[in-house]
Amino acid sequence: MSGRSFEVFPKAAIAVDPVHVGTGGARLGRVDNTIVRDPVTRVPKIPGSSLAGVLRSYVAMQEETGRDESSRPKPYYPDCAGQGQPRQDGSGGHCGQPDCRVCTVFGFARGGRGGFAGLASFSDAHVLLFPVATREGPLWVTAPSALRLLDGLRDQEDVAENKLYRNGSSDQPLNLGWLLLPVQKYCKMSTITDKLKNMHIPEYIRNRMGIVSDKLFSHVVNSNLEVRTSVAIDPATGAAEEGLLFTYEALPRGTVVLWEITCRNPAHCRIGKNEVAVRCPADVHQVVTGGFPYLEALGIGGMGSRGMGRLRVLNPDGKVSGASQCNVSKASQGDP
Ligand SMILES: [Zn+2]
Repeated sequence: MSGRSFEVFPKAAIAVDPVHVGTGGARLGRVDNTIVRDPVTRVPKIPGSSLAGVLRSYVAMQEETGRDESSRPKPYYPDCAGQGQPRQDGSGGHCGQPDCRVCTVFGFARGGRGGFAGLASFSDAHVLLFPVATREGPLWVTAPSALRLLDGLRDQEDVAENKLYRNGSSDQPLNLGWLLLPVQKYCKMSTITDKLKNMHIPEYIRNRMGIVSDKLFSHVVNSNLEVRTSVAIDPATGAAEEGLLFTYEALPRGTVVLWEITCRNPAHCRIGKNEVAVRCPADVHQVVTGGFPYLEALGIGGMGSRGMGRLRVLNPDGKVSGASQCNVSKASQGDP
């Protein structure tokens, strides 16, 4: 038996700084540097390709740091970290070796001769809980479409528009930013908070949570993004460039995002017979988690030099029901 062909690990993370994953140009209204949005809901998201890119770099850093002096000619970092293009003299680029944890998990390019897609794939990270200022302090707002991303809440029904559902002590109307909404109790709230607890969402967030309709969620998020104004710095003089005032938007500090890492079973993939760096989906997942401390220290997206982008993964170990331990016998390794 070589086990299941893949396992899915859901991940929740909280923005320690404002997070700006830019679209690379398009101006929207008053904002010069916009962030990536879901094309249908217009709710901002972090593309899975961005997550895969930074985690690849961070895992390569971690692997290189943890490595003994070795006879291997190529370092994991930076060679296996980037997009795999060799330098002009032919050095660098992905090593593509079956015993390389970076290249097997994140894939590798092999100039012109195809390559390997990697054993881990990353969904986009969607906003699960969004902090909004109210007159009672911050409230984390979510919506049925966001909650449906969680296993066990897939059949979440939409709620009435223009109401705020929460189980607080007061039934008085409450403002989300500039928007005043009538408050209604929500009978299934404990099912939701239990799921959030399983994802290691902190108690202070679970206790200050509200639900709005999918349509209103998009409005509330987009009206309460962090928008900052900054000046471009001339690298030659170190001074502000004249006339180069620009604005950019970001997910605010405290936003909770959710994504899934799908880890394929190496035993079902053709990645070489001997000395395979990872033996099962749990191994693949464990390699990815090595990048999480770097994600919290160095962040994701742009404006890193302005103190933006750090993400703390709340459930780094991500034990999910049914996830098996790695106990692949020698005989089941290699090609299927
Ligand atoms: Zn490599």
